[in-house]
Amino acid sequence: MAVDIPSVPLPGGASLPQIGIGVFQVPPDDTANVVRTALEAGCRHIDTAQMYRNEAGVGQGIRDSGLAREDVFVTTKLANDAHGHDNAITALEGSLERLGTEYVDLYLIHWPLPGRGKFLRTWEAFDELQKAGKTRAIGVSNFRPEDLDRLAEHGGPLPEVNQIELHPAFQQRELSEYHRAHGIVTEAWSPLGQGRVLGAAVLADLAGKHGRTPAQIVLAWHLRRGRVVFPKSVHAERIRENLDVADIELDEAELAAIDGLDEGRRLGPDPSTFEG
Ligand code: NDP
Repeated sequence: MAVDIPSVPLPGGASLPQIGIGVFQVPPDDTANVVRTALEAGCRHIDTAQMYRNEAGVGQGIRDSGLAREDVFVTTKLANDAHGHDNAITALEGSLERLGTEYVDLYLIHWPLPGRGKFLRTWEAFDELQKAGKTRAIGVSNFRPEDLDRLAEHGGPLPEVNQIELHPAFQQRELSEYHRAHGIVTEAWSPLGQGRVLGAAVLADLAGKHGRTPAQIVLAWHLRRGRVVFPKSVHAERIRENLDVADIELDEAELAAIDGLDEGRRLGPDPSTFEG
C-alpha cells in the first residue's frame, strides 16, 4: 500500500520516517504479526527497546514482510540495567542477534537515570558503536535539558534524537525549544496520550471538519510541529489509519487550538526521579 510519509534528515546522514509504529506493550508472540501488518500498510519505521522483550518479533515481522532490511528504519533502546561502557556494547550485540540484523538505524539510551551517574560513559560507547557501523544514528530518550547540557560539556557528538513524552496534554515546550536550538530531532512518545486525550472537544470538532478521526488530527498536529511519532496499535484498521495523515492540512489557528490543550500532565514516569 502506498502512503505518503515524509522523512527528516538526521545529522549523521540517516533519514528518519516521521511516522512509524511503536511496539511497547505488544506481546512478544503478536509482535511479528503487528510489524508485518504495519509494513504492508506502508510503514517503514519500527520503535522497539530491549526492555519491551519483543525485538525477536520485530526482526521476524520485517523478514515476513519480504522488504529489504535497508528499507526499514529500526530503533532500539538500551535497557536500564545495561548502562556503562562495556554493558552498552554487549547489550547492542544482544539486540542485533534478537533482531537478526547487522545494524540498527537508531540506538537510544532509554532513560538517563541521573541518580546512577553512568550515562556519560554509556554515551562514549554509543559514539564507538556508531563509528563501528553497528548503529547508523545515536540518540537518547527522556533526557532533560540538564542531562543534554552534561553530554555537550563532556564533548563528543550531541544526540541526533531525544525521544520524550509529548502529546496534547503534555507538550514540553521548553525541552522542544532546546532541541530546536541544538539541532536535535524531537521524537514524541505516547503521541496519542495512550488514547486518553482523544476525547477532547477541540479534537472532535477538527475531526468533524476534516472528515478524519481525532487520532489522525493529533498525529497531523505532531507532523506539522516537526516531530517524529510512532503510535502503538495492535489493530490493523488503526495501524492503517495512523499512517494515513500526512495530507491533513491544519492551519495555524487549528494547530494553536491543539497547542491550547496542554495541561502539563505527564502520563509516564518523571525522568528526574525515575531510576528504572
Ligand atoms: P500511544 O499514544 O501510541 O497510544 C497507544 C494507545 O492508543 C493504545 O491503547 C492503542 O490501542 C490506542 N490507539 C492507537 N491508535 C488509535 C486510534 N487510531 N484510535 C484510537 N485509539 C488508538 O501510546 P504508547 O504509550 O503506546 O506510545 C507509543 C510508542 O512510544 C510505544 O509503543 C513506544 O514505542 C514509545 N514509548 C517510549 C517510551 C520511552 O520511554 N522512550 C515510553 C512509552 C512509549 P490498540 O493497541 O488497542 O489499538
